[in-house]
Amino acid sequence: MYLYNSATHRKAEFTTHTPGHVEMYTCGPTVYHFAHIGNLRSYLCEDVLEKFLRYAGYSVNRVMNITDVGHLTSDADEGEDKMLKGARREHKSVMEIAQFYTDCFFDDCRKLNIKRPDTVQPATGCVDEYIKIISGLMEKGYAYFAGGNVYFDTSKLPRYYVFNAHDKDALEVGVRDGVEADSNKRNSNDFVLWFTKSKFEDQALKWDSPWGTGYPGWHIECSGISLKYNGEYLDLHCGGVDNAFPHHTNEIAQSESYLGHPWCPWWFHVAHLNTSDGKMSKSAGEFLTVSLLEEKGYDPLDYRFFCLQSHYRKMLVFTWENLDNARGAYKKLVKRVAALDPDGGTVDEALSEQFREKFVAVVGNDLNTASGLSLFYDVLKADASDATKRSIIGGFDSVLGLSLLEKADALRQQERKSATASHDGYAITGESGPDAEIEALILSRYQAKKAKDFAEADRIRDELRARGIELTDVPGGAVWKRV
Ligand code: AMP
Ligand code: ZN
Repeated sequence: MYLYNSATHRKAEFTTHTPGHVEMYTCGPTVYHFAHIGNLRSYLCEDVLEKFLRYAGYSVNRVMNITDVGHLTSDADEGEDKMLKGARREHKSVMEIAQFYTDCFFDDCRKLNIKRPDTVQPATGCVDEYIKIISGLMEKGYAYFAGGNVYFDTSKLPRYYVFNAHDKDALEVGVRDGVEADSNKRNSNDFVLWFTKSKFEDQALKWDSPWGTGYPGWHIECSGISLKYNGEYLDLHCGGVDNAFPHHTNEIAQSESYLGHPWCPWWFHVAHLNTSDGKMSKSAGEFLTVSLLEEKGYDPLDYRFFCLQSHYRKMLVFTWENLDNARGAYKKLVKRVAALDPDGGTVDEALSEQFREKFVAVVGNDLNTASGLSLFYDVLKADASDATKRSIIGGFDSVLGLSLLEKADALRQQERKSATASHDGYAITGESGPDAEIEALILSRYQAKKAKDFAEADRIRDELRARGIELTDVPGGAVWKRV
């Protein structure tokens, strides 16, 4: 697979520490509110990436944290813990809202066909790991204690700005966020590993540590959880593009300083979903959620289709009109798949393999999901049996996740039901669709049987058979199809 790597700023052939196996980490949600569909765009693209890697033959161990402590309202280590703010808003405890919004997040993921990572770890469950790493960083001289907090000393690194290599001024945390500078910091981009002092004295969750009772910074969570579950060599780290700096930059700084060797070579960043009037945000009042889409009558998979139509590295603008267009295209695709007969012939393995290779080449080119989608139409047009087409489509869909076969089968069922005509309580169902002439014949046979004219009933059955109609008597009626 060829994948763009934001750490090297170029696309290259994807490689892993252990051939054939991927250790993958994803920054999970901060569970102080519902996820908005922008957040979910990131998880959706990461889901396709994971599924593609599996499809291409890798084994994958995917780990995700749940941020339930330490993510402050400003990423410059200022402000209040977002969790505390959420708890206050809802008059609940931090742990109550963490549980509630974690469940909501996975509910949304399920609706969007986003697979649950192999390991999901709430940040509050790994405090010992963070303390171990911070102690190691203190011993090696990468961290210092000042004003009650432990900070990482970014001046100790030969190269700190991994992603946005060069524009130091524009990236100065204090300047960017317009927040007051923390006078304890030796360098403006130093960041907190462990807080014991905060302006917000009612911080709900606290733990003992060698530096006093307090709580971990946000960045250390991801390093700690990844080191615990992925091991010392991570292959692929994912997140939304806003996480690249400072969050991922700081993860790299602390992980590599602690380990004493390179940590994660591949970084996958998903561009934002924005509204036409700007950035989507959880903290700014009303926002777009999966439930809102459902309330408005959309299938969450309409949104998945919408996301797949564009490249993950391109900013995507959400409008209802764009979503309507995606819904229309998705519905049409399902309809075309529903027109394929599940019992239609045998599977052509050679053709299936050809298409599989095409799919791997196309989607394996920096996760080009839009081209992956267009392959569905190539399959539908191909000179192949319906069974072959369904089998290939099912394979592609194990990566793209549109539930095409399930939706198509449901649509067929629905159409079959509507093809059932009732005649005086006798239901005639045409599996190949309605046909007035055939129904009339079947009804005459029924009436002949009722009148005990079995010779006539048999004659009609023979006539139907001669026309290629297979008839099955069922309680209360008959089902027929063309064979
Ligand atoms: P959070 O819950 O704020 O920690 O964010 C969860 C994930 O969503 C992170 O990977 C963010 O980078 C990502 N994210 C935040 N806003 C957007 C957006 N508008 N579009 C796409 N991804 C986003
Ligand atoms: Zn993270």
